Amino acid sequence: MDKQSATCHICGRQAFFYSSYLGKHLCGKHFEKMLVRRVRSVVTTEIGQRKAFRKVMDGSAAFRFIDFVFRSGESDTTLFNNVLEDFAIAVLGYFVFDEKPKIAVKSASGVSPLFTTSEKEIENFLKLKKLCGGSVKRRKRDAYVLNMLYELEGRRPGGMLSLVKIGRRLGII
Ligand SMILES: [Zn+2]
Repeated sequence: MDKQSATCHICGRQAFFYSSYLGKHLCGKHFEKMLVRRVRSVVTTEIGQRKAFRKVMDGSAAFRFIDFVFRSGESDTTLFNNVLEDFAIAVLGYFVFDEKPKIAVKSASGVSPLFTTSEKEIENFLKLKKLCGGSVKRRKRDAYVLNMLYELEGRRPGGMLSLVKIGRRLGII
């Protein structure tokens, strides 16, 4: 489809973002709605409903996004800022380098609601809400693995997500 003429598959308005998660174009309003719904459902699925959460206030784009979606407060559950890319690196690292992942979707201390959300989605969400957040600095090997993953993603959109879902199913992350 021509990018210029792409329209939202829900309402038919001009598309703002192509979601490789859904394999569909979305307008700004529906992009926001779908993304917020997705990250909320991760938390609900993993730990059930909670009113407020502890957050990792590192000023990152991921934190800004989490802070927009979830309420802060006294809680024994922390929402971590790790995103799809971090989990894809962890899963590939496990298979290729035999490295035990240091992050988990769910741990005793909390949840990573963004494990299916990419940096690109977060970046576009912040742009839409006129918010800003810092970029992530990764160690050399992780940056190298991520380049491999971006190449995979280029050849097969949604490939990173599939990898993360497989890793989750196998209990790696
Ligand atoms: Zn729409």
